[in-house]
Amino acid sequence: MSSSVGQLREGLAGLSRYPLLFGPSPVHELERLGAHLGGARIWAKREDCNSGLAYGGNKTRKLEYLLADALTEGCDTLVSIGGVQSNHTRQVAAAAARAGLHCVLVQESWVEWPDSVYDRVGNILLSRLMGADVRLVQAEFTIGLRPSWENALAEVREGGGKPYAIPAGASDHRLGGMGFAGWAAEVAEQERQLGVFFDTVVVCSVTGSTQAGMIAGFAALDGPPRRVIGIDASAAPAATETQIVRIAEGTAELLGVTGLPPVELDDRYHAGTYGIADERTLAAMRVAARLEGMITDPVYEGKSMAGLIDLVSSGEIPQDSTVLYAHLGGQPALNAYSALFP
Ligand SMILES: *Cc1c(COP(=O)(O)O)cnc(C)c1O
Repeated sequence: MSSSVGQLREGLAGLSRYPLLFGPSPVHELERLGAHLGGARIWAKREDCNSGLAYGGNKTRKLEYLLADALTEGCDTLVSIGGVQSNHTRQVAAAAARAGLHCVLVQESWVEWPDSVYDRVGNILLSRLMGADVRLVQAEFTIGLRPSWENALAEVREGGGKPYAIPAGASDHRLGGMGFAGWAAEVAEQERQLGVFFDTVVVCSVTGSTQAGMIAGFAALDGPPRRVIGIDASAAPAATETQIVRIAEGTAELLGVTGLPPVELDDRYHAGTYGIADERTLAAMRVAARLEGMITDPVYEGKSMAGLIDLVSSGEIPQDSTVLYAHLGGQPALNAYSALFP
């Protein structure tokens, strides 16, 4: 382990972490995708298979830190919020089950989608199966705080419980960036083992703590510079960028790091609406599936895959780059989008 990785590990070791992952998430090359695009070499790091808990995903990595905090504080109920097909709330339900806690989930109607089983299959089905108290609420998409969520917290208190509040995407929280600061240390160790250096990371961003944690984590490593390109899937990039900056700074402060690079958030691939795919998103999903057997979803990873494909094939990411695509999970939502694949 190089000393900078050791230092970042030490900063993270000051915080308690409840293990939910298998270990380091797998890293592998996407040779056929790379050859197809005729540009940079492309690898993937797979948060979609990082855990045995309900299909895993990027929130599971963040929740290792929040869950430990909830247990330290003596909380007995995790309370969180997301859209009807939220991957995040499904991962909160799994973390609660694993730790023996109750779980209340506020599921808002963030996406107008016609599949008749949209609120029955995929993520929400899994959350129900895991015993979460799932509440469907009418409200529009925002990455900010919500009255419905405050109500759920108050109800748990009135019932004599002790809630632990987890914001949308486990992002706007003191510990939200820690999981992906740890991811940066993991990448550096895997690079050493594999003898590669990823000069460019491509990652989907909505609530922002995934990209923010990476930025703070890589800054703490103090290695050669690399780009972390966020592909916005919120279709509200200004709010997402503000939140990324705030969380990156808060995470860096907790890790004792200064001098963060500017945030790069590309707003060309969100298809205009959160949760809705356009033809380019679907084309990217097909390319990843047909060349690599790698499944992406229409809400998040299909959009970051569309960004990766365009940036590499246009040469905006240069030919001699070695790119790491952060696959953040999200496949369970596919079941709710059957109308896209007639
Ligand atoms: C939540 C999520 C994202 C976005 O991550 P943020 O930390 O909210 O920016 C991307 N992909 C998938 C599959 C997700 O569930």
